[in-house]
Amino acid sequence: MKKVEIPFNRPSIVGQELEFIKTAINSGQLSGDGEFTKLCNDRITRMTGSGASLLTHSCTAALEMAAILCDLKPGDEVILPSYTFVSTANAIALRGATPVFIDIDSLTLNIDPEKVVEAVTPRTRAIFVVHYAGFPAEMDQLAEIARTHKLFLVEDAAQALGSTYKGRPAGSLGDMAAFSFHETKNILCGEGGALTLNLPDLVERAEIIREKGTNRSRFFRGQVDKYTWVDIGSSFLPGELIAAFLYGQLERAEEIAKRRLALFDCYSEAFHDLEKAGRIRLPHIPEGTTGNGHMFYLLMRDIDDRDAFIKNLRNSGIITPFHYVPLHSAPAGRRLGRCDSELPVTNDISDRLVRLPMFFTLDHDVERVIEIALKWLKHGDAS
Ligand SMILES: *Cc1c(COP(=O)(O)O)cnc(C)c1O
Repeated sequence: MKKVEIPFNRPSIVGQELEFIKTAINSGQLSGDGEFTKLCNDRITRMTGSGASLLTHSCTAALEMAAILCDLKPGDEVILPSYTFVSTANAIALRGATPVFIDIDSLTLNIDPEKVVEAVTPRTRAIFVVHYAGFPAEMDQLAEIARTHKLFLVEDAAQALGSTYKGRPAGSLGDMAAFSFHETKNILCGEGGALTLNLPDLVERAEIIREKGTNRSRFFRGQVDKYTWVDIGSSFLPGELIAAFLYGQLERAEEIAKRRLALFDCYSEAFHDLEKAGRIRLPHIPEGTTGNGHMFYLLMRDIDDRDAFIKNLRNSGIITPFHYVPLHSAPAGRRLGRCDSELPVTNDISDRLVRLPMFFTLDHDVERVIEIALKWLKHGDAS
């Protein structure tokens, strides 16, 4: 097989990550909640316009904390898209609650508020909404539904750091939000995440859950004389080496966003004519939202067309992966979740979507991806 020339993703150093790691080591504290964690939390709080931010070791961990904060228990239901990463659903299932999978909108690929209303029952406790490809979901309508039915509204904002909805950043739009700094995301530290909170009442409990169920954070602030076990919890906090690396990236957030958005625009322009001709479909930017250049995808005609595209670009050394396998049809989704109807859009999009390379150092290689992709799309031949 041909050697990979252009990967789908390549993590890179963008600023002072390595210097900050040295500083962290010299500071004498490598466990969590040191200086770099505080710097990261402050920066994330500002970027997301949220009330508070707690660094975690992944978005998965942040979602698990959110599920605990919603007090989910067996018998409870949570509404979420089937077209998402497993962690959105696992967080719910780990509390013994039932993920209720609904369909996405065929234009935005985000959950459809009307489908949310149809799925609400007396057992519903929360909506876990995903901002797919970094484009925020219809949050005003979802917030209204959550208010009417007294549900928690949790944003899985793993892909959406820096995106906005009607001028407000992802992370400020629900009761809580989970972000990811996995190496495939815009801002990265290998494995990392954050939980942001907009309900002041939840902050102290979130700190406790994150610190193994102890009130250690209050102890360090001098608010209690000794710290003890007060609630359920786990170790959800990363060490300072991770926070130091992450802070190096967060400092360059604007430049990272600028570069990715420029790549996004390059792709949009290059494929515009083929979209007009009906050959493919490009990402739809929902009204009132701005993206963060997290992902650029194409929607092909059908699964055969999509798989042939992937194979042909692979033969030219370019990696273009598909994305989620619908969770409602996965073995664990069928066993642990519920799905009250067919999810035709989810099934269809899952078959037809392909993602193009997108990373900080892609630079002029974007032109090579475009050239090969256009050749194949126009002539059925990439060579
Ligand atoms: C990446 C991603 C996650 C998981 O993030 P981790 O930091 O790897 O745990 C969860 N949900 C969505 C929508 C994601 O894209």
